[in-house]
Amino acid sequence: MVNEYVGRFAPSPTGLLHAGSLAAALASFIDAKAHNGRWLIRIEDVDQTRCKKEWAEGILEVLSRLEMTGDGEIIWQSRRTDRYAEVLDRLIAEKKVYGCSCSRHSIELLNRLSGSPLNHYPGTCRNGAQGPIRSWRFKTNSTAIKFVDRWAGPYSQDVEKEVGDFVVKRADGLFAYQLAVVVDDHDSGINHVVRGADLIDNTPRQIAIYEALDWPQPAYMHIPLVLNEQHEKLSKQAGARPLGDNLLDELSKAWTHLGFDPIKAQSFGDFYLKAALQWQNRFL
Ligand code: GLU
Repeated sequence: MVNEYVGRFAPSPTGLLHAGSLAAALASFIDAKAHNGRWLIRIEDVDQTRCKKEWAEGILEVLSRLEMTGDGEIIWQSRRTDRYAEVLDRLIAEKKVYGCSCSRHSIELLNRLSGSPLNHYPGTCRNGAQGPIRSWRFKTNSTAIKFVDRWAGPYSQDVEKEVGDFVVKRADGLFAYQLAVVVDDHDSGINHVVRGADLIDNTPRQIAIYEALDWPQPAYMHIPLVLNEQHEKLSKQAGARPLGDNLLDELSKAWTHLGFDPIKAQSFGDFYLKAALQWQNRFL
């Protein structure tokens, strides 16, 4: 069918699911159900230095206990490096990505001298690497990138000014999240991305890559983050509490966190049906 909704949940296995990632899983799943669309699961284990197989298995086990079943094969980023390399080669050939010899240390040093934010890339290698190539960077331009987030509304970022030319292949040889996520979403036909608000400031970088590749962009929705008592984002790396055994209870909490009416449900199927109706009333 033309224009069929395709969404996804794409956890990084840097720990087990917690209340924050459950909210992202639930929102993306319910948005897909409310649209009568397909929903895919992708394990974002591209950063092998932070991901563990047992966490990936733990996440998949909880999703299966939640009866959140993907409508297609599970995609593993760690198995897709050849494809990322192919897209990177295209971007290099089209001069949209260039080799960079700067180290984090040299970038910080320059920024300290000029009073710029420490991780902003000053463009040193834009017109030619100054030494052996360490990483590969996407060439940004000064046009602000704008999109309308389905949750947060209009969003705009001048990527060149706020981030600078960003890394798409890292000095340790790993492909960066920004490139992998675009290639994966595109290859899976994803046209709706629903994820946590912590990623909203990454979205303009991803849109810049879509534009460079002349690929259609998905619609975006960034849902509010779940915070801990210190008002910090829950994160797997910071040791957020894994989900408890009563998963219906955990789902209910995630649901009301998103500002919806509490749901009393006998089963997961019943919960998702009621949730999809509320979602349709609010967004469709
Ligand atoms: N892998 C990311 C995370 O677990 C999510 C990426 C995305 O949804 O685009 O936070």
